[in-house]
Amino acid sequence: MEGKDIEKRTPIPERPVGERVKDFEEVSLGYSKEEAIKEAKRCLGCSRPLCVEGCPVGVEIPAFIERIKEGDFKGALLKIKEKNLLPSICGRVCPSEYQCESKCVLGRLGAPISIGALERAASDYGGEAEEESNGPPKPKRVAVIGSGPAGLTCAAELARDGVEVFVFEALHQLGGVLRYGIPSFRLPRAVIDRQIQRLKDMGVRMEGNVLVGRTIPFSDLRTKEGFDAVFIATGAGLPQLLGIKGENLEGVYSANEFLTRVNLMRADLFPQYGTPIKRGKRVAVIGGGNVAMDSARVALRLGADEVYIAYRRTEEEMPARRVEIEHAKEEGIRFLYLLSPLEIRGNEEKELICRKMRLSDELDESGRRKVFPTEETISLLVDVVVVAIGQRPNPLIPSLEPRLARGREGEILVDEEMRTSLEGVWAGGDIASGAATVILAMGMAKKAAQSIKKYLGISSRR
Ligand SMILES: Cc1cc2nc3c(=O)[nH]c(=O)nc-3n(C[C@H](O)[C@H](O)[C@H](O)COP(=O)(O)OP(=O)(O)OC[C@H]3O[C@@H](n4cnc5c(N)ncnc54)[C@H](O)[C@@H]3O)c2cc1C
Repeated sequence: MEGKDIEKRTPIPERPVGERVKDFEEVSLGYSKEEAIKEAKRCLGCSRPLCVEGCPVGVEIPAFIERIKEGDFKGALLKIKEKNLLPSICGRVCPSEYQCESKCVLGRLGAPISIGALERAASDYGGEAEEESNGPPKPKRVAVIGSGPAGLTCAAELARDGVEVFVFEALHQLGGVLRYGIPSFRLPRAVIDRQIQRLKDMGVRMEGNVLVGRTIPFSDLRTKEGFDAVFIATGAGLPQLLGIKGENLEGVYSANEFLTRVNLMRADLFPQYGTPIKRGKRVAVIGGGNVAMDSARVALRLGADEVYIAYRRTEEEMPARRVEIEHAKEEGIRFLYLLSPLEIRGNEEKELICRKMRLSDELDESGRRKVFPTEETISLLVDVVVVAIGQRPNPLIPSLEPRLARGREGEILVDEEMRTSLEGVWAGGDIASGAATVILAMGMAKKAAQSIKKYLGISSRR
């Protein structure tokens, strides 16, 4: 392949802005088969592939890309599935640019291989790529609490080796943040549904509307209910709030509530569905992560004329994925930097008063430039405010079980095998790491599953 072709990345087709802002259909169309093969052909197939080191679950990236080069999408999907059981999801939401793609040597010559989009293509065109099962079920039962990516991954890893798995989910629908947080224009519901159906086909039993700690006492799982092991994957769904005056006014939402109302409870279809939402004409979203981008883009699709993202630092420090920032900008979201909210006043029409901040050259513990308040303030006139400044681990189970050791942020403390301080109980995903990413939650869940199998005396296929 010519050097200059290697430098150029095959563009990923997207829906036109004017069309996509009117609905919740997927924004990125993904590669066609031909485009995927073209992009795969850019891969140099390095003998020491750094991209694999950049993947938290160690997917053998050059090996799956090699299969795509040959047009063997099913083979590519099977290769990915050796390490990652949710490729259709990760291919859409993984922050690949900070992980595998950031290590790709082609990044130095031009643009790195579009690994995330190729993973998506493998899952879109690879068919069902059947799971192998490991013989008849073993007489061991494991309870998984929470049906987000951590819970689903642990369940799949155990079910593959014949363990009887029960997933308990507090909400009426399964999928965790994938379902209630990430909007369908980034992750279509059909992709989540397919993934969950595959687990059910593997024999995993799943029950919604079960809040462990209330519907069933947590301590009953190992005793009365007779589970041999428990995996806690309850996530980080507790919103962090600003703690400012006016935060309790009508029309001021935590991102969690705002997104759940729309994504899970279909407030976008009110009154056809019973859940209402305030549809602001001018909406301010506070924060700079993926959650803020999603909230802003959802507000736009609910019919807002103006949507602002107010962030206390600058774009350079924003933790959101680059592609999400770009999509938000293209769609007309207005980014206001170096603003920190001080107070919300008013009623129907609100005044969001923010202090102007300044960046210093000093770095904080996250390696980002520190911010300091200035004397200046500005106010924005809006009718809805969405607060998206972070989430903390869900406190219910840790608060009911004092023997579970907890960290400073309320996360459940685990060892390198994801064992908690309680015999027979493991934890992983955001409940143990604090709010992180889908792939990190999956990586922790895989480690937990290996450790649970060892504890149960079950030999693993991998
Ligand atoms: C809006 C938003 C956008 C995001 N975008 C991205 C992205 O683009 N890329 C990325 O990699 N990551 C993203 N993330 C982060 C990612 O979604 C999380 O890191 C990941 O979902 C964590 O997985 P988990 O399985 O640990 O927890 P969760 O997905 O939070 O799942 C936990 C589940 O446990 C259930 N539960 C809680 N308590 C109980 C109980 N007592 N009994 C029964 N069930 C219970 C909850 O209802 C929930 O369904 C985003 C997060 C949000 C909020």
